Amino acid sequence: MRILLSNDDGVLARGLRALRAAFVQAGHEVFVVAPDREQSASSHSITLDRPLRLREVEPGVHAVDGTPTDCVLVGMHGLMEQRPDLVVSGINHGPNMGEDVTYSGTVAAAFEGFILGVPSLAASMRDREHGDYEAAAGVVVQLAERAREWAGGRPVILNVNFPAGPSAEWGPVCVTRLGTRRYSDELIEKVDPRGRKYYWIGGSEPTWDEADGTDFATVHEGGISVTPLHLDLTDERSLESLAAVDLSEVRA
Ligand code: MN
Repeated sequence: MRILLSNDDGVLARGLRALRAAFVQAGHEVFVVAPDREQSASSHSITLDRPLRLREVEPGVHAVDGTPTDCVLVGMHGLMEQRPDLVVSGINHGPNMGEDVTYSGTVAAAFEGFILGVPSLAASMRDREHGDYEAAAGVVVQLAERAREWAGGRPVILNVNFPAGPSAEWGPVCVTRLGTRRYSDELIEKVDPRGRKYYWIGGSEPTWDEADGTDFATVHEGGISVTPLHLDLTDERSLESLAAVDLSEVRA
């Protein structure tokens, strides 16, 4: 397979390096286009107000001074001579589950692959510091090979999350849906040395509503979560009831 590999933690990140090594070892062709620095929580942003510069770090590995979405666009339209069979993003240092996928630069790279018509896979590690990225990369390669066959060329997005703990204790791969995070963000207010207030968005580790069948529940129980995503944000459940609201008097 021909793989376009990116991430949001930067071209030097351990998770990206592990994925590249695993795909190469399995005999796949890997083309890396990744941000030159940390771009976590950059979501699906795209750089339109300045040119993008790139640097070839080593053969087949390019660093771009932009977002993960920029990287996928530059890779597909600028650098790769042939379209990739699969776009892979990660392995992110930290999980991307539930509503957090909307902040994630890792998942956004997969969104961009999907928009460009290529099956895409995003992978994230629950334990950002002690996670076994090498073992996870081996699993991603196996999932990618199966995903390609399953997708049959149609664009899909798979969001994969690995649990904490040693890889020997990881449970099986489970197909899940996105769960719901319990709101826990905190806004820290402090005063800087010049007497001006500043704010820092932070908070403790998030907690989740661990309903059965969700990514949160699976990862919490030590399993590997695979969630199929799409980009149609239409609220199907509200279509009918909204259409029943009398909007005839609302006009310009
Ligand atoms: Mn990240």
